Amino acid sequence: MAPDRSLELTREEMADMVSATTDRVLEHIESLPDQPAANVRVDDRFEHLREQVPEEPTPLAELLDLLFEDAIPYSINGPHPGNLSYIPSGGLFHAAVADLIANAINRYVGAWAGAPALARLEGNVVEWFCEMVGYPDGAFGLLTSGGSIANLVATITARRERLPDDFSDGMIYTSDQAHHSVTKAAVLAGFPRENVRLIPSDEDYRIRIDALEAAVEADRDAGKRPFLLVGSAGTTNTGAVDDLDELADLAACQDLWLHADAAYGGFFVLTDDGREQLAGLPRCDSITLDPHKGLFLPYGTGALLVRDGNSLERAHAVSADYMSEHRLAAGYVDFSQLGPELSRDFRGLRVWLPLRMHGVAPFRANLAEKLDLSRWVASELRDVNSVQVVADPQLSTLAFRVEPPGVTGEPLDNLNRAVLERINQYGRVHLSATTVDGRFTPRVCVLSFRTHRKHVEQCVEDVERAVAEILQQPRE
Ligand SMILES: *Cc1c(COP(=O)(O)O)cnc(C)c1O
Repeated sequence: MAPDRSLELTREEMADMVSATTDRVLEHIESLPDQPAANVRVDDRFEHLREQVPEEPTPLAELLDLLFEDAIPYSINGPHPGNLSYIPSGGLFHAAVADLIANAINRYVGAWAGAPALARLEGNVVEWFCEMVGYPDGAFGLLTSGGSIANLVATITARRERLPDDFSDGMIYTSDQAHHSVTKAAVLAGFPRENVRLIPSDEDYRIRIDALEAAVEADRDAGKRPFLLVGSAGTTNTGAVDDLDELADLAACQDLWLHADAAYGGFFVLTDDGREQLAGLPRCDSITLDPHKGLFLPYGTGALLVRDGNSLERAHAVSADYMSEHRLAAGYVDFSQLGPELSRDFRGLRVWLPLRMHGVAPFRANLAEKLDLSRWVASELRDVNSVQVVADPQLSTLAFRVEPPGVTGEPLDNLNRAVLERINQYGRVHLSATTVDGRFTPRVCVLSFRTHRKHVEQCVEDVERAVAEILQQPRE
């Protein structure tokens, strides 16, 4: 019997496939402004989309219909200009093109020996990031799938640099506002959950240095080993930036590894204002960045930078008979020796292509614009009846609550829930909420390259309208 060659597409078949897909994708992107900012059916089980192992072929057109009509619309609309929820990931189209190239050529960049020139290009991206944050020569890092993995690799690296093999008394400090991936990283790195100390934050939601110092000293007195301090450079809750300079002083005094979780806020260093807020960033031993947030890339691109690039190699390098080895110190990059992954996608290209095509200027301009837009939203919301801005934007995130006189406790939470739901029903913008000071608190995060003045004006209008409508209804 002749071998099956149906997977080896002809040039024409490939061209048809790309062209049919491109048509659908471009249609989707062009119509973004007319689509709802979100259309989520979280209680729907989508039973009708359950599928058997496919024994029979299906034409691509039919599958594209299924995707674009029956699946994609039921979601938070990530690339929509009105996406102001969580931390928006814009999704630069350039990255889709870069992925097309990367997946079509399918080269292995995890080791220098596989594709040295391509590994060099990915290394450039890492070095650009090091330069952006103000790191000295000798700093290096790696691209990860996101900030959570970057925080995990940072935790493991700090553990290997600072603790003996028996590390169960190693203590980790971060604020009560830190992203939950910090605790998750500690647990995955083998620490008991209670070894993570969540230090109280101040009225601006920054870690309290006095409380931090006291906790470290108390643990030392109790025979524990404080070793890692994680500062937030832009919290997910309110966008608060810890005082990294003070943390660096304390880390030096107390001999702690200082990691900055700058997954959300890090790329604001490209702006003058952001650089001031993030002063102290270059003093951190390691830094998490999320290009799929602050560089507007699609999901799947994070980064970990370390001040001493060799520390990554010390923590991760394990030799194998079937692998050739190249040392970072000699100017070669074996990314697989710097982190947990061996085989992986060529993720450097999705960062490299847009940065080379446009240069840094439009990224800087967009980030500066987002800082301004969030400040504008805060000042407008202050004038909305019954609205309190709970946390002013330090970067591009702000939190607010509807607080009519006399309403407190659970009814206040329910009121804010109703307002948020109403805003999202209008479909022009999508907001999410968090818990601040124990209260349900809606928030706005401006971070997409597609979000401009018009869209934040719609946000303010819709908050105003929702508050008016909800407050008019009789409350139980
Ligand atoms: C998003 C975020 C993370 C987690 O990053 P992922 O890319 O979602 O894994 C960690 N810390 C902060 C501050 C974040 O904003």
